Amino acid sequence: MIRNKNNYKEILKNLNNKFGKVNAVLANEYIKVYPETAEEHRDMQKFCREEKIEFYVIRPLSERPFKIVMKGLHRDTDIEEIKFELAIALPEIEILKVGQLKNVRTKSPMDIFMTELKKNGHGNKIFEITQFMFLKIKIQNCRKPPGATQCWNCNMFNHSSENCGFQTRCLKCGEDHRTNQCPITTPQENPKCINCGATGHIASWRHCPLFPKIKPTKGQGENYPKAQREFLASQYRRQENISYSMQT
Ligand SMILES: [Zn+2]
Ligand SMILES: [Zn+2]
Ligand SMILES: [Zn+2]
Repeated sequence: MIRNKNNYKEILKNLNNKFGKVNAVLANEYIKVYPETAEEHRDMQKFCREEKIEFYVIRPLSERPFKIVMKGLHRDTDIEEIKFELAIALPEIEILKVGQLKNVRTKSPMDIFMTELKKNGHGNKIFEITQFMFLKIKIQNCRKPPGATQCWNCNMFNHSSENCGFQTRCLKCGEDHRTNQCPITTPQENPKCINCGATGHIASWRHCPLFPKIKPTKGQGENYPKAQREFLASQYRRQENISYSMQT
């Protein structure tokens, strides 16, 4: 997905010059580009970064990691140890990441661990584990938290920072740094929203006119993590805050 600031012809001309005939569809403020191979996909991302063409990547479902949460281990368990033991218990699946949820208010780590596994068709094997590191444990599917995904890098919606090729934009001041690097550390009286430009809220406030309206998700599994940014928003709005965030 390439951002179209009314310059799609110019961007596509550039891409066609570099990669030959490119398969592209116009989608309002974006251009959807479909690379033919994984290699071309990589090269296009590199090209866009070099040419300062803003984009984000939509990964096919099959390439997205499979996420689960694990309960029953002590909250002080070392994440590296979990990773190591999981690799032994599940030799057929690659363990991409283990993280621990922490309570947003108190910042204390919780006894809930989140794991990302590489999809390879054997993912369901993990649900067969009931005993792990000498303890009885419970493994559940992890669902995306309800509502929109907001990117940690650019603070726009519907993609995550791992797939982001947009300019970094701070949620608090709109400058070119990550929100957690912002020199502003205290809640401000009248913050300005970097997405809609209004004052009195920040761009992660769900009632911002530009915050996507999405129906809550249904089905099995639990929703983790609720984002830290909501907590940030609540510092401004004095709203009821939420209780989980991820610590990796
Ligand atoms: Zn982004
Ligand atoms: Zn900032
Ligand atoms: Zn706004």
